[in-house]
Amino acid sequence: MIHHLARLFVASVVCIAGTFCVADDIRAAEKLKLLIVDGQNNHNWKAMTPYMKDVLEETGRFAVDVATSPGSDAPAAAWEKFRPQFSKYDVVLSNYNGQPWPKRVQRDLTEYVEGGGGLVIIHAANNAFPEWPEWNEMIGLGWRGNDFGARVSLNDDGKVIRSAAGEGPGAGHGRQHAYAIVTRDTQHPVMRGLPREWMHAKDELYHGQRGPALNMQILATAYSDESTNGTGTHEPMVWVIPYGKGRVFTTVMGHVNGEEITALRCFGFQTVMNRGCEWAATGKVTLPVPENFPKPNAVSIDE
Ligand code: ZN
Repeated sequence: MIHHLARLFVASVVCIAGTFCVADDIRAAEKLKLLIVDGQNNHNWKAMTPYMKDVLEETGRFAVDVATSPGSDAPAAAWEKFRPQFSKYDVVLSNYNGQPWPKRVQRDLTEYVEGGGGLVIIHAANNAFPEWPEWNEMIGLGWRGNDFGARVSLNDDGKVIRSAAGEGPGAGHGRQHAYAIVTRDTQHPVMRGLPREWMHAKDELYHGQRGPALNMQILATAYSDESTNGTGTHEPMVWVIPYGKGRVFTTVMGHVNGEEITALRCFGFQTVMNRGCEWAATGKVTLPVPENFPKPNAVSIDE
């Protein structure tokens, strides 16, 4: 710590005449280490990961590494070498939806989050690993059949409705469209300062997600309209769950089909992802809400 402070002090003195360099040095020293895990997904992970990495790094808050798993046709020997070093990171972002990881990797991640690590789930990452009980607890709700577990939605009065396994729809989505995201927890660090309602760019609107849904705090929802083949109720879009000493942040926004990455280009999605990662890593949010954040009636995307 003494060396760390001394280094900052020296940097400050050396840069005293420069513009912004003191702040930049302090920021660099505070960068959070983030690991994106990918390698299999029914979405275009090869387009998603580099884009999300750029968005995260452009905040100046993260240093991002990527761990890519073997492909679905890889021999068992390739999996033996797959051992992401989760414990070296402040936060792990999953962009993975595919074969079960080897048990030792599952154990590594569970222990990492239990011990205080941050985990961030983007879109179809919550489709993965139905057979991994700790994972299901961490994510709360996943893309599962209606008999898998509870369903959680909100009624028009904002009351949380919990349906039992077997009751109501299982996982699905209607046709893609731009839709309003409604903030439900205005005091949570990730949501503080966001509009009460804002338009998310064209995306899938997940509904009927299922799971143990324990200790789940819903930060934002979207109305799943029957006119778009939705459920006629308010579906959770962003939520958090404590797990051991760690924090898990999920957003089901972020569908990417082929080369079309509209959902990720939404400045609303990006803000929620960036802040979700910072919060999962530290429990706090310092990243500001950008000027170009979407409005209640207008999307705002990175052209
Ligand atoms: Zn999708």
